[in-house]
Amino acid sequence: DVRVRFAPSPTGPLHIGGVRTALFNYLFARKHGGKFILRIEDTDSTRFVPGAEEYINESLSWLGLKIDEGVREGGEYGPYKQSERRDIYRQYAQQLIDSGWAYYAFDTPEELDSLRSQYEADKKTFAYDVNNRSGLNNSLKLGAQETLKRIEAGEPYVIRFKMPENVDVSVKDIVRGQVTFNTSTLDDKVLFKSADQLPTYHLANVTDDHLMKITHVIRGEEWLPSLPLHVMLYRAFGWDKTMPEFAHLPLILKPSGKGKLSKRDGDKEGFPVFPLEYISPDGDVSAGYRESGYFPEAVNNLLVLLGWNPGTEQELFSIDELINLFTLERVNKSGARFDPDKAKWFNHQYLIKKSDTELASLYKTVLADKGIEADKDFLERIVGLVKERVNFVEELWEQTWFFFQKPQGYDEKVVKKRWKGDVPAFILKLAYLFDSSEFWDAEPLKEMVSAEINKQEQNFGNVMNALRLALVGGAFGPDLFTIIEILGKKECAERIKLAVE
Ligand code: GLU
Repeated sequence: DVRVRFAPSPTGPLHIGGVRTALFNYLFARKHGGKFILRIEDTDSTRFVPGAEEYINESLSWLGLKIDEGVREGGEYGPYKQSERRDIYRQYAQQLIDSGWAYYAFDTPEELDSLRSQYEADKKTFAYDVNNRSGLNNSLKLGAQETLKRIEAGEPYVIRFKMPENVDVSVKDIVRGQVTFNTSTLDDKVLFKSADQLPTYHLANVTDDHLMKITHVIRGEEWLPSLPLHVMLYRAFGWDKTMPEFAHLPLILKPSGKGKLSKRDGDKEGFPVFPLEYISPDGDVSAGYRESGYFPEAVNNLLVLLGWNPGTEQELFSIDELINLFTLERVNKSGARFDPDKAKWFNHQYLIKKSDTELASLYKTVLADKGIEADKDFLERIVGLVKERVNFVEELWEQTWFFFQKPQGYDEKVVKKRWKGDVPAFILKLAYLFDSSEFWDAEPLKEMVSAEINKQEQNFGNVMNALRLALVGGAFGPDLFTIIEILGKKECAERIKLAVE
């Protein structure tokens, strides 16, 4: 049975790259009737950020990516938070020591730093590896007795993986194909630290993927360099027969296509790179998709196309369609460029798909914040009239404010061009004509006004623009006679009189 996990580290807000990883895992799990697991990888205590775990949960729940097993949900393979699994990792680190796949190292950070500088001075890079390990301060050199003595004396140590020399390893990545490496290019990574009694990412990640019976590891490309070590760890533990399959997702690139999309890009150019608003410890606010007015369905849709393609021209997918269509084989190798305008386009598509009733009720809350109350039928009507022009519910206000209040001023350019000669007087005449009219539908009103323009030999363009100016204050808005119809007789007359005065 398919079991996949999303394994974020609570070291800050979840970026949309992380959300996309979660989405791909979710789709894959649902497609195969499997389980979607959330595991919190919080073993790096120095990078822990309070609130990050809640942020992850809230983001996934906003997007409707329902978790089957996790910290909150529980499950057979818990605990799902790595800081609660210390004893497990200790035990597995010990197993590697016992089988000779790992060793204790006592080198202090200062010693290692000085080695690094020495190498740098010679234009070389220091690596704790097969070439260097024999001369360093570790159990391989010190021997069992001395090692034990030091441990018992409380000397801090780390446990390092003893990367074997010159082994060719080849593993298939579902996205990238065969990945081949030689172990001689790899160093002896730290697996466990006595100081905080915590494992590093590598040991915890591999151990948990095994114990939680993960079948497919779907994660960002930035983890590809760790794959060789992970494969070696599976071998060292004797778990290679049940090793999960791997799929490394391509990077999400800046709008320019140059480099990885970052928080800074969004902050600078005013588009969200976070699912939810994020306020940094310094109080800097970064936009979130939710707060920016995106629909969660639109976000899922725009994210799925960052790195996956359906093989057709189709761009809009319901989540059920995605579950049906999604395959890891259709994940692209190359980076996916993020396009902020396209993101808005997606939201627009979902907005116009909503019924006028639903949009009206969403708009009602926007209006309520402004202290405006409005009738449901009225709202449905105006929302239906302008929805093609907006990407977000909030933007409905820019398109419809004049239905709720008189113009605050008049566009100078339009005044200069259209509000001249006897046009104002003619417009005022129209107000009286409106007053005495027995009908109030856009079409007959339009006929009536046109007839009057002809009769008085007025310029059609000037009058229409001036009338619009009087009613809304500028040269914008939907069809003029529909505005007139919706505003009503009394309101139109009032606005005209106000403008002429
Ligand atoms: N904790 C890692 C992260 O923050 C998980 C990487 C993986 O999925 O293996 O992305």
